[in-house]
Amino acid sequence: MTSPPQQHWTTEDSARLYRVRDWGAGYFDVSDKGEVTVGVEFDSERQQISLMDVVAGIRQRGLRMPMLLRIENLLDAQLVRLNETFRAAIAQRGYQGRYQGVFPIKVNQQRQVIEEIARFGERYGHGLEAGSKAELVVALSNLPAHDGLIICNGYKDREFIDLGLRARKLGYRCVFVIETPTELPIILERSRELGVRPIIGMRAKLATTVGGHWNKTSGDRSIFGLSTHQMIDIVDALKAHDMLDCLQLLHCHLGSQIPNIRDIRSAVMEACHFYVNLVREGAAMGFLDFGGGLAVDYLGSRSNHTQSMNYTVAEYCADIVEVIMETLEPHGIAHPTIVTESGRPTVAYYSLLLFNIFDVTRFEPTPLPAADELSEEEPLIRNLFETLQQLKADRVQQCYNNTVFYRDELRELFKRGRISLRSRALAENLVLQIFRRIADLLDNLGDETPPELRDLREQLADIYYGNLSVFQSLPDHWAIDQVFPVMPIHRLDEKPSRDAIIADITCDSDGRIDSFIDAHGTCKTLPLHPIDPEKEDYFVGVFLVGAYQETLGDLHNLFGDTDVASVRINADGSFDITRETEGDSIADILRYVQYNPKDLLERFRDTAEQAVRRGTITVAERREIVDCFAAGLRGYSYYES
Ligand SMILES: *Cc1c(COP(=O)(O)O)cnc(C)c1O
Repeated sequence: MTSPPQQHWTTEDSARLYRVRDWGAGYFDVSDKGEVTVGVEFDSERQQISLMDVVAGIRQRGLRMPMLLRIENLLDAQLVRLNETFRAAIAQRGYQGRYQGVFPIKVNQQRQVIEEIARFGERYGHGLEAGSKAELVVALSNLPAHDGLIICNGYKDREFIDLGLRARKLGYRCVFVIETPTELPIILERSRELGVRPIIGMRAKLATTVGGHWNKTSGDRSIFGLSTHQMIDIVDALKAHDMLDCLQLLHCHLGSQIPNIRDIRSAVMEACHFYVNLVREGAAMGFLDFGGGLAVDYLGSRSNHTQSMNYTVAEYCADIVEVIMETLEPHGIAHPTIVTESGRPTVAYYSLLLFNIFDVTRFEPTPLPAADELSEEEPLIRNLFETLQQLKADRVQQCYNNTVFYRDELRELFKRGRISLRSRALAENLVLQIFRRIADLLDNLGDETPPELRDLREQLADIYYGNLSVFQSLPDHWAIDQVFPVMPIHRLDEKPSRDAIIADITCDSDGRIDSFIDAHGTCKTLPLHPIDPEKEDYFVGVFLVGAYQETLGDLHNLFGDTDVASVRINADGSFDITRETEGDSIADILRYVQYNPKDLLERFRDTAEQAVRRGTITVAERREIVDCFAAGLRGYSYYES
């Protein structure tokens, strides 16, 4: 049997296989050299750099794998995209108000991110959203006082409110969005006491429910927001205090990553009617805040799958502008300032995680012995051998059933001490050989594959051991099955002929990446290149990890923060490594869990000293042993090659 002539594999094939242009939002691509590139527009001229060149630059500087790479330009570009797209929608439709976004700090609180957003967002008046006292402190120390917009969500105690009111005196437009009725008396009392008129918003609990993972944020049972009755009570209380001029903003947030634009449209419509009614009640109003929800197309499928989106940013902006105009027009109400709190799309693209593969396990049979060498073996093993020889496309299910039966019987025999380890190894090798052949036969069966055998390929997939901790760097993959785009960043001019899952370096069976994107949505294995990890470096990237991943991560197995490098692409096509942050050393991590590394070293010295006294080691050996321990404390928590 001759196989069809193997088409030459090109970088185009890789780009299509990993769908890089579908999820890459115009930023990521594959170069002719077969490497992943990242690029941005400069005055309509595109400049792109190869991630492998960045890796080389980083390693020369002594940073290690795994590493988080931040491409500064992508943060700027996304901020520009959001603001300019709203501006265009507003201009095109003759909307009378303007757009003013805020970045929700909880999506990525890192200093560098917030500083960059404040700096780059200044020309758009882009503000910040704070959901806690700590985030308010971050907002106040980063935004310009003059008119800086700070939306305060979350549960606010007296301390929170005092700080927000005092910030008003400096010129910040600090809006208290009332989440629960108990906040109002504190706001009233403290603003009277401090002599500051507060800016008040109300978070509405919309009846509109949305699809996606975060759908519990919407609807009657949402834990956030005010019921209609509570809203009326607040309006009445403000009226009684002659403070309806302070009520200026209506807020709603239906949850992150809303995949379906129709849900957004209907939520906007409902929110607009709240707005109309509050104006009619005599509130000053002026701001209509739709919270977050603008999605990121992680799958690149442009669908209403939870991890995709069936709309573009342009449609999102246009729909909001249109629905407000249509709803407010009949009531003759002035167009409000549109506020959104888009965090995920602002920062998701900006960070990517790079790691190396340090080992591979293959589920491949070793060469089999000849039939006559099996004469002494257990009959069940000979049965397996015959099964292998009789294997044909029309009998795959039967052969599979027999193989599993013989295998399980043989394992029972081993358990009772009736066959040796060598015999068991021979049996399992035969089983692997049979499964491999069945899997090959199934490739031609397509839809006719028996249901029981559909995941046989996955069961035979290689395990590539990646130098990363899923718990530290990709917590949402572990916790909520978030799928991130994953692909090798080089060798893309070669066909990735192995199917693999990626295991991480923690000793936890949940520490794995085993869902990936493919042409139909998601799949359980990833095509990777055959490698010899001892002889060559192989680098894999996980993309779109800038939102939520950095501070949700944990220290499972005491793997700490990775090294971080920031890269800026220049207009001439060169790049600079603008910042390097060393990740946690082992001593750093031990301090988080209340050990004192100095004490540990002392204790270890004593242990070694006692060994010297007993005469089991020499003083010189003690010194070597203690040095090794001390070096361990200074070291990186990940696999160092
Ligand atoms: C988390 C959160 C956001 C961010 O939403 P994304 O859709 O993830 O960008 C915005 N507003 C509020 C109130 C939030 O709690």
